[in-house]
Amino acid sequence: MTPPTTEPTSGTATTTSVEVDPLVTELQGACRGQVVGNASIAGLTTLRVGGPARVLVTAEVDEDLAAVGRACATWQVPFAVVGRGSNLLVGDGGVPGVVVQLGRGYRGLEFDGSEVRAGAAEPLPVMAVKVADAGYQGFAWACAVPGTLGGAVRMNAGAHGGEMADHLVEVEVVRLRSGTRETWPVQALGLSYRHSELPDDAVVVGAALRLLPGDPASIRADIDRIRTWRRTHQPLNEPNCGSVFTNPPGDSAGRLIEAAGAKGLRVGGAQVSDRHANFIVTRPGARAEDVEALIEQVRARVAESAGVTLVTEVARVGLVAVAPEGAGGQADAACEVDAPAAGGEAHATGTGPAGEGSA
Ligand SMILES: Cc1cc2nc3c(=O)[nH]c(=O)nc-3n(C[C@H](O)[C@H](O)[C@H](O)COP(=O)(O)OP(=O)(O)OC[C@H]3O[C@@H](n4cnc5c(N)ncnc54)[C@H](O)[C@@H]3O)c2cc1C
Repeated sequence: MTPPTTEPTSGTATTTSVEVDPLVTELQGACRGQVVGNASIAGLTTLRVGGPARVLVTAEVDEDLAAVGRACATWQVPFAVVGRGSNLLVGDGGVPGVVVQLGRGYRGLEFDGSEVRAGAAEPLPVMAVKVADAGYQGFAWACAVPGTLGGAVRMNAGAHGGEMADHLVEVEVVRLRSGTRETWPVQALGLSYRHSELPDDAVVVGAALRLLPGDPASIRADIDRIRTWRRTHQPLNEPNCGSVFTNPPGDSAGRLIEAAGAKGLRVGGAQVSDRHANFIVTRPGARAEDVEALIEQVRARVAESAGVTLVTEVARVGLVAVAPEGAGGQADAACEVDAPAAGGEAHATGTGPAGEGSA
């Protein structure tokens, strides 16, 4: 709420001014993990667009997450959780609150018979290889999903015939609003195609997965095959966020987009990939508004040609655009964080006080 204050630095002949954000100071005092003010978020995402966060916290312990929740409630600012940012479109106006990402304190894997417990910051492709090397099958598909375990639980990520719901036993979450840790059995997660019913303030910090024994060599061969398929069929050398739209029942979004003649369509620095029509790739200098406008053009073309309204899979955080000068600045614009975006979808950002957030 309170904007950063300007304070003079001391001790030199020329006096300069630095911005001191009291929210940053408070979180630096309360967190073990790193706290950075006015932090670029685009680089934390695979799409590489969007504005900065007022504060970025790398949480290393549960107390850091509790501190983020407390600070957001006190300062009445929104929070957003970022994993690997591989399914995330950050608005050009950035996040006028706290973005939290799990640090190394939330990595690691422990095998216990046919179950594996893992920290939510564990990268899924790394986990897929570790699981294969330990002699468990069925999880090879995860080598193709470049997110974290936490993001994969939230999205019920899946590929090549497998999905998180097939393996999860239970997840550990920390609730930002209460600062408490809870264990959720898989049945309570409301998992469906690329969707979970986890509350917006539930940060997944770990999960237990059930696995089946298998032959490490043949599982590694599966992984190699999946990786080769991906390199051939997806634009992995350009910034993207994977599939932009979910597949409508019984069809493929990529097929519909191609049939609508939208492959290669371009808005500013964003383009529908020539390699895979359900991927949008970005060039240096691209803006989130380019991606949003392209999403709307693709949606309109598919609606017109096939009568199908595509639904976006990519999650949004942050403000749609920078507030115009004199319009109240970022703090006032924060009330728009949960307002529908141009495409009619709410941003995946919550606010401090209970009940005001949206998933
Ligand atoms: C090249 C490429 C290929 C892809 N292929 C696939 C695919 O085959 N199948 C598939 O399902 N997806 C795919 N994706 C999309 C993406 O990798 C998955 O959705 C992944 O699960 C997102 O994880 P993440 O850690 O990057 O989450 P993010 O993108 O950072 O976040 C996604 C959502 O999860 C939330 N979130 C993140 N971490 C946590 C946490 N710890 N606790 C609670 N909420 C959290 C965020 O707030 C956001 O709402 C692909 C992406 C790319 C770039």
